[in-house]
Amino acid sequence: MPELPEVETIYLGLKEVLVEKTIRSVWSDWEKSFPYDKNFIKENVLGQKINLVKRRGKSLIIELSKNYLVIHLKMTGQLIYRSNGYNFGGGHPNDSLIGKMPDKTTHAIFTFNDNSKLFFNDQRKFGWIKIFTPDSIKEFKFLNQLGLEPLEPNFTFLNFKKSLLKHSKARIKAVLLDQTVIAGIGNIYADESLWMSRIHPATLVSNIDSQHLKMLHSSILKILRLSINKGGSSDRNYVNSSGQKGSYLEFSNVYKRTGLKCKRCGTAIIKIRVASRGTHICPNCQKLINKKQH
Ligand SMILES: [Zn+2]
Repeated sequence: MPELPEVETIYLGLKEVLVEKTIRSVWSDWEKSFPYDKNFIKENVLGQKINLVKRRGKSLIIELSKNYLVIHLKMTGQLIYRSNGYNFGGGHPNDSLIGKMPDKTTHAIFTFNDNSKLFFNDQRKFGWIKIFTPDSIKEFKFLNQLGLEPLEPNFTFLNFKKSLLKHSKARIKAVLLDQTVIAGIGNIYADESLWMSRIHPATLVSNIDSQHLKMLHSSILKILRLSINKGGSSDRNYVNSSGQKGSYLEFSNVYKRTGLKCKRCGTAIIKIRVASRGTHICPNCQKLINKKQH
């Protein structure tokens, strides 16, 4: 599943091409991804202009003149924009990104007033597009229960600490993956930021001292920003909005580096299981502390 940097990369690309376009028609063949009939689409989407494209956590939000489209790519979703001579796409990096559109993985097509099109492809069909009114989007728990947004100004150390301490008896990795605490972090960036701040992923939040929490907060920011600069990671096959593979994994310190040397101390990286997820650590830099050290 794409994490914050991958979705941010797609968002940055799409906002350049979608804003100001008016939706002329919508086609869809997969009810689970886009569960609306023609009349509903006509009343709630057609003729509306795209005012804004946003990202919240791992979701994309397209603000129309009256309503909203919310898109989640899940495992294999892609968004591909095609205009006369202009190709642009992000998400699962198979050949569809540069191939002829639509293809057999296309499940929705938005056509705009200038004949350009946005294709929603999804091989495994876990992704979705939902339509909301200004009232119903407020009731959408998936969005409104999301926690702190790491790239927003309110992701301060104090807010971060306060949010984590509500889960003081949970393991830190599980808390980082909980989207209601911090939005957008998944397996890759949880492992990377815990390595950078020398915290064992299975440590209980209550056992982490303030200094390490501070390091964790700044590590999350550093790592997310680095990954966005590198176009996201290409693990699970994510590519950036111009169709190039993200290169973050070339810079990763622990993620997918089992058996390789820790870049800090030379100890071999190991893979363990924490919060039911494969977890990469340096067993020397990240020791499990069972009691808070003062
Ligand atoms: Zn190490």
